[in-house]
Amino acid sequence: MKHIRNFCIIAHIDHGKSTLADRLLDYTGTVTEREKKEQLLDSMDLERERGITIKSHAIQMEYTYKGEHYVLNLIDTPGHVDFSYEVSRSIAACEGALLIVDAAQSIQAQTISNLYLALENDLEIIPVLNKVDLPSANPEEVTDDIVDLLGCKPEDVIHASGKTGFGVDNILAAIIEKVPAPKGNPDEPLQALIFDSVYNPFRGVETYFRVLNGTIKKGQNIKFIATGKTYFADEIGTLKLKQFPRQEIKAGDVGYVITGIKEAKEVKVGDTLTDAKNPTTNVIEGFEDVKPMVFAGIYPVDTEDYEELRNSMEKLQLNDASLVFTPESSAALGFGFRCGFLGMLHMEIIQERLEREFDMTVITTVPNVSYHAFTRKHPEVPVIVNNPTDLPDPSGLDRVEEPYIKATIITKADFVGNVMSLCIEKRGMITNQTYLTTERVEMTFDMPLAEIVFDFYDRLKTVSKGYASFDYHPIGMKTSKLVRVDILLNSQPVDALSALIHADNAHNIGKKMCEKLKELIPRQQFDIPIQAAIGAKIISRETIKALRKDVTAKCYGGDISRKRKLLEKQKKGKKRMRQVGNVEIPQQAFMAVLKLN
Ligand code: GDP
Ligand code: MG
Repeated sequence: MKHIRNFCIIAHIDHGKSTLADRLLDYTGTVTEREKKEQLLDSMDLERERGITIKSHAIQMEYTYKGEHYVLNLIDTPGHVDFSYEVSRSIAACEGALLIVDAAQSIQAQTISNLYLALENDLEIIPVLNKVDLPSANPEEVTDDIVDLLGCKPEDVIHASGKTGFGVDNILAAIIEKVPAPKGNPDEPLQALIFDSVYNPFRGVETYFRVLNGTIKKGQNIKFIATGKTYFADEIGTLKLKQFPRQEIKAGDVGYVITGIKEAKEVKVGDTLTDAKNPTTNVIEGFEDVKPMVFAGIYPVDTEDYEELRNSMEKLQLNDASLVFTPESSAALGFGFRCGFLGMLHMEIIQERLEREFDMTVITTVPNVSYHAFTRKHPEVPVIVNNPTDLPDPSGLDRVEEPYIKATIITKADFVGNVMSLCIEKRGMITNQTYLTTERVEMTFDMPLAEIVFDFYDRLKTVSKGYASFDYHPIGMKTSKLVRVDILLNSQPVDALSALIHADNAHNIGKKMCEKLKELIPRQQFDIPIQAAIGAKIISRETIKALRKDVTAKCYGGDISRKRKLLEKQKKGKKRMRQVGNVEIPQQAFMAVLKLN
C-alpha cells in the first residue's frame, strides 16, 4: 500500500486538465504509440467534439521513481458545473490533487470551488502552473495569485506545459513525494466508495470504486448499501486504457467490477460497496441522490414517433442514470415526456444523443426549474411543479417557492459594476465581496436558480469581456411572487410556451416574448396574432403579417408531389418544426423565452 498514490486533477474548465492527463499517460508509458489520440480520457465522441469531459474516468499508471516501483491511480473529473456532484465523489476517492491553473487566465471560479472540495476532503494539493509555453503566459503574477490562495511557497508551484510536456517529470515526483500513501486495512470488512459507473451495452454497468478497507475478490457476493441490492462480482480488475482482470483488489487501490447489472440507475455514484455476508458498519458519508435541476418537455416532431421516442429514452436512461422522464401530454404538442436534467448542457447532450444514436428528431419545450406550490387548503404540502401548466389555480394558491443557489463569481476589479448590475437584474442579492488580489474580486450572490440556468453564463462572459468565471451550489427553496405567463398563437393558447415568471418582470417579459416570437415564427398565408396573457388578462400583443400571394413557389415538371414530400420530410428533420393548430412553430421559438436580451 505504501507504493500506491491516488490523485485527481482539478482545474477550471479549459485550463488544460485533459491535455496534462494525456502527457502523464505518455510519460509513464501507459499508452502505446498506437493508442495515442488527443485527450484519451474523453472517450465518448460527444465529449471529444465538445472538448469537455462529461463523465469522470480512472486510469492506472506505473512509474519507477528513485529505484522504487509505484502504482499511480489518476481519477479524472468532469469540469462543468452540471456535473459537480461527480467531481465531489472523485475527489473523495483520492489522497491528493493536482491543482492546475492556466498561466494566462489565473485563478477562476471553479479553481476555487474545486479547491474547497479538495480541502474539505483533506487532500494534499500540488499546485501546477500550466501552459507556461503560451506567449500570453504571466508566470510571476499567476504564481503570486496561487501563493496567496494556498499559502504555499512560490517554489512549490510546478511550472508545466501539457502541450510540450515540460514539467511532467516534476509533477510525477511531487505526486510520489507529497501525496500520502492510502491508509486502510485489507483485513477489515469490505468498504469501497463508488465514484463512477459506465454503461457498456454488451457487459452491463461497469462500476468504478476505490477500496477504503477490506479486499474485494472475484466471485464475491457484494452489496450496494444505498439500493440494498446484492450481486455476484463476475469480474474485477484495474483500469489502464483497457481493463485488466484481477483476482482481488485490496484496500488503498482503485478498480472496476462487473456484475451483470443492466441499468445505470442501479449503481449510484457515492454509494458504499460492501461484502454481502460480512457488511461494513462504516458507510461512506455524504452520499446523495443526484437531483435534476432543469425540466423540459421532449416531443417527437412527428406524433407517430412517440413509441419510438419512448424506446430511445429508455435506452438512454440505461446508460445515463441522471436522466429522468415521465410521460406527459400537451394540448399543443400531443404526447411526449417531461424530462429532468442536471443542467442546460446535460439537456443539450440528451437532445443530441437522441438525434445521433437513435435518429430521433425532437422538439424541446421551454425549460424550467422545479417549483413548490402550496394551496390554501394544504399550506404545508408542496405540489411539485415541474411543468408550468401544473401550477394549481392561482385563486386557491397560498404561495410558490423556487430553488435558490449561492453563486460565486470571480472577476477583474474593472467589471465589478457590470457583474453587479447583471446579478441584480437576475434577482440576485449580494452576500459577500472579497478582493483576492488588487485585481481580482470574488463576489457571492443568493439568486434564483431559474435566473441562472439558462443564459446567465453567456451574459456574464459578455459583461466582463470574458474575464468573469462562475460556479454555483443549491441552497434551498424560497418563496417568490411568481405568475404564469401564457402565450396564445392565433388565439389558441400554446401550453408548451408557458413560463413561470416573477410578477415584477411578467409584463416586460411577456412583451419581449411576443416580439421574439414574431421574429422566429415564419410568416404564413394568413395573419397570426401573438398574445401574452396572465390568466384571462392579455398583457401584450404582436401580429405576424401574412405572406403576399405571389411568393408561393412555382411548380416545374416531373414527379413533383413525390419530390415535394421528400423535401418536406428533409426540411422537417433539419428545421425541427412543429405544427400547432395551423401555425408552424420552429424549435427556436420554444427557446425564445431564454433569449430575450
Ligand atoms: P480541460 O477543460 O481542463 O480538460 O482543458 P483541455 O485539456 O481540454 O485544454 C483546453 C485547451 O487548452 C485545449 O485547446 C488545449 O489544446 C489547450 N492547452 C492545454 N494545455 C496547454 C498548454 O500547456 N499549452 C498550450 N499552449 N495550450 C494548452
Ligand atoms: Mg477536459
